[in-house]
Amino acid sequence: MLQSEKLTWEECNFARIVAGFWLLATFRKVVRVPLSQLVSCHDVFSIDALVLTLEPAPAGSARMTCTALCTALLPPQAPLSIETMAMTERGMTLDVAVTTSQAHCPTCTQPSTPMHSNYRRTLADLPWATTPVQLPLRVRRFWCETPHCARQTFTERVPQVAPCSARATTRLSTMQTATGLALGGAAGARHLARQGMPGSRNTLLRRVRRLPAPEAPPPRAIGLDDWAKRKGHTSGTIVVDLDRHCPVDLLEDRTAETVAAWLQAHPEVTVVARDRAEAYASGVTQGAPDAVQVADRWHLVQHLREAVEAE
Ligand SMILES: [Zn+2]
Repeated sequence: MLQSEKLTWEECNFARIVAGFWLLATFRKVVRVPLSQLVSCHDVFSIDALVLTLEPAPAGSARMTCTALCTALLPPQAPLSIETMAMTERGMTLDVAVTTSQAHCPTCTQPSTPMHSNYRRTLADLPWATTPVQLPLRVRRFWCETPHCARQTFTERVPQVAPCSARATTRLSTMQTATGLALGGAAGARHLARQGMPGSRNTLLRRVRRLPAPEAPPPRAIGLDDWAKRKGHTSGTIVVDLDRHCPVDLLEDRTAETVAAWLQAHPEVTVVARDRAEAYASGVTQGAPDAVQVADRWHLVQHLREAVEAE
């Protein structure tokens, strides 16, 4: 509801701009309104229980300007300003630019001010509600003024927003990683799509695989067994931590030399459970002569069953 009483000409003009913006956005037409024009007159409005007010905010009020509201939704701590906003059928597009006046050369770390050129790189960001958001970020290329630096020009970095060459903001990547860990690739991708976030099955799996391995204590009791890279054709050896019940390594083959080399690199191993293969027995004897070798349960039960059936 617009408080239309006692509106000045500037307030009426501002109301017309805002109403036109939202009307066009409702009908899914492309809208591109410079934010400076949108907030040029009385740029103070607050959204409180769906009531849009045009009254200037009194000093100390909790109301926010349109600029402050939109900027608050950008990645936190990012030195960005919004140039234009556009609503298309694919979502919201915010043209943003870096506000700092200089950048540091990544080679010599010295600050530089002379600008060489600029271009836009598009980053996917977290959605607003469930509306997808794209950030075409205008980044600048600077001349490096250090005489003996190997670089002549360099592109400014914005680590608060995204790593170099990334196509998604850091906070979106974090969300994709968490979703991939919780739901996996395909289900995670469907969940992200419902929330207005990009991320294919392969993207989620790639994010999860890039996570560093969790720290774990060195294994003391391990199990050795065959591991088929290609069933019936190529096999290696899997090493399992019997205390934590999880694989700790995959060896390329099943030879005694490979097993012995792995055990020599892990002198903390004191117990090895294995089948009756000669290669494993020899490898453990060479690599960990003091370790206790035990027959694994599965093979014990198998041999017991075979003996009973033979009687
Ligand atoms: Zn430099």
